[in-house]
Amino acid sequence: MEQFSGKTVIVTGGSRGIGRAIVAAFAAEGACVYFTYHRHKEAADTTAAETGARPVLCEQSDEPAIVAVVDDITAASGAVDILVNNAGIVADQFLMMMPRETWSKVIDTNCGGAFLWTKAVSRCMLNAKRGAIVNIASVSGMVGTAGQANYAASKGAIIAFSRSCAAEFGPKGIRVNSVVPGFIDTDMTARMPRSIKRQSLERILLRRFGTAAEVAAVVTFIASDKASYIAGQTVVVDGGLTGTVV
Ligand code: NDP
Repeated sequence: MEQFSGKTVIVTGGSRGIGRAIVAAFAAEGACVYFTYHRHKEAADTTAAETGARPVLCEQSDEPAIVAVVDDITAASGAVDILVNNAGIVADQFLMMMPRETWSKVIDTNCGGAFLWTKAVSRCMLNAKRGAIVNIASVSGMVGTAGQANYAASKGAIIAFSRSCAAEFGPKGIRVNSVVPGFIDTDMTARMPRSIKRQSLERILLRRFGTAAEVAAVVTFIASDKASYIAGQTVVVDGGLTGTVV
């Protein structure tokens, strides 16, 4: 039997990149998957066509919309079994030049959104006394990256947020963990200057960027019953970028 058959999964930001690969991985294992997007409807339609998952237009900071989406899904499916907080943006700028709006936009989208979605699904999961939440952080939340004070702060916060949620929800049967990708080939990294990409590759032990599917494989494992004793953990998927000093 497919391992997620009968499970309802929400993935935020499933229209492109890592989110699309996560949607595909859950759908391939029989899950009923809903995913959100914000601006790229065509990309969302492609994800839906490729995977059979259901797209939902929903902005990360729109609390009433998020609550309504969760209510609708719960009414239709009876439960939300798995939430993956994946949607995220970068808006890199050196700190001295960074307008407050740029700071707030990244914090609100990446970290505020995870808070709103987690809060929205928590009642349903607490009632059911089961569930799994996987939050997508970044190595930028673990090590310093110049020009990314806003992004790094949002991703470091995700790691800490995950641990606190794990402490709150673990005793009620809900596992919360974070997955921490390094450099992954998506639209987000396609915008990186070539010189920075070259420097980054020299620091990655495996000498390549990861694929979205490689992150998705870890996310589905952490969310699955095979990982039933993993809670409050931070799982790094970075090809060896942060593990050594060579
Ligand atoms: P992409 O830019 O390829 O995709 C981002 C996704 O998030 C899209 O589906 C996008 O929707 C959605 N999104 C963005 N803003 C909002 C919003 N305000 N409301 C709702 N949805 C939104 O990113 P990646 O796939 O590369 O990244 C996915 C996650 O992984 C992010 O959290 C990122 O920080 C993290 N990550 C990525 C790494 C990488 O190297 N790529 C490394 C480490 C972490 P739409 O298509 O409509 O714009």
